[in-house]
Amino acid sequence: MELEKNVSLQHLHTFHSPVSTRYFLKVASLEELYAALERYQDLCKKEPDLPLLILGGGSNVVFSGDYRGLTIALGLKGIAVEHTTEEQVLLRVQAGEVWQDLVEYTLRHNWGGLENLSLIPGNVGTSPMQNIGAYGVEIKDVFERCTVLDLRTREIKTLTNSQCEFGYRESIFKRKAKGQYIILEVFFCLTRRNHPLKISYGAIASELEAMGVVTPTIQQVAQAVVRIRKSKLPDPNILGNAGSFFKNPTVESQVFSALAQQFPTIPSYPQPQGVKIPAGWLIEQCGWKGRRIGNVACHHLQALVLVNATGEATGEEIYAFSQEIINSVESKFGITLEREVNIITS
Ligand SMILES: Cc1cc2nc3c(=O)[nH]c(=O)nc-3n(C[C@H](O)[C@H](O)[C@H](O)COP(=O)(O)OP(=O)(O)OC[C@H]3O[C@@H](n4cnc5c(N)ncnc54)[C@H](O)[C@@H]3O)c2cc1C
Repeated sequence: MELEKNVSLQHLHTFHSPVSTRYFLKVASLEELYAALERYQDLCKKEPDLPLLILGGGSNVVFSGDYRGLTIALGLKGIAVEHTTEEQVLLRVQAGEVWQDLVEYTLRHNWGGLENLSLIPGNVGTSPMQNIGAYGVEIKDVFERCTVLDLRTREIKTLTNSQCEFGYRESIFKRKAKGQYIILEVFFCLTRRNHPLKISYGAIASELEAMGVVTPTIQQVAQAVVRIRKSKLPDPNILGNAGSFFKNPTVESQVFSALAQQFPTIPSYPQPQGVKIPAGWLIEQCGWKGRRIGNVACHHLQALVLVNATGEATGEEIYAFSQEIINSVESKFGITLEREVNIITS
């Protein structure tokens, strides 16, 4: 494990902005991670307040500029069966495993639970950060616990599902414990048979029909999800992006009623605490879909996705573009959009 200096991160995050990090370490084991943290402390002696960044697949970050701290790329690998019953399997997965590799591994073993989450970029260790979700499933539905390293005490701890305080694209890791833990491994509880399929969400049912499938298996559900995602979302290897840039806002019922009077076609999804409105619709109504300013654009098929249109977009440009969108949605609908993507500001 060698400390590298002034390393380009352009190909280590999916927006592919031309940014670099002052220091860079790639770790492949827990021992190396501890050694990396020692190294970080040494650096801090000379450069107090040096920031630390843990990087997974880089698919949910925007760098506002070059990173002036130490970036640790977490490469811990391994998938193991922790426990099985007739009905369920408990999987223990290391943080550096690629999410889609895990999904495919579970499908090969006919273990159910992750099929709707097919083709989400990124690593397993990051999946609890924003409680990744797609097509009616979130990881909180299959998450049993995770092992974390507490950066304040250097202790290894276990956090259960309820301790992670999962919500819509939310968890304790993005809120009150922000920057406190490194997630080392995640335990998933999956079904071994009688898989309860979730196919009523989005276009899954119609895609299965188009595939000629009547009684779907988990593998066929995954295949349908992959087909839908490929038809809708830009491939970050071709067009830099970080998936949905904004969260779908939830407003109080009275606020929604007033909006519905003014904008009768506004789509809505009732929630226990209010009404969720698709951010993509709001953005589209403000005329942003397909619009480009300089190097950044709002995708022509999916208004929620901002793209690095020329390959040269800087994080600053992407941030400024997203702020313009927030301002227009606010002035037209009185709703303040929240960014889903993590802005790395050092
Ligand atoms: C095309 C595309 C489609 C997407 N679709 C979806 C979708 O359907 N649903 C969805 O939920 N998301 C989606 N995303 C967003 C993204 O894939 C997820 O948020 C993913 O979990 C990010 O993982 P990552 O490893 O790339 O995280 P990174 O971008 O590397 O990191 C994200 C944040 O987590 C921190 N972090 C990373 N690893 C750790 C760790 N081990 N411990 C502690 N902190 C850590 C980083 O410091 C950073 O703040 C999409 C992204 C793209 C590009």
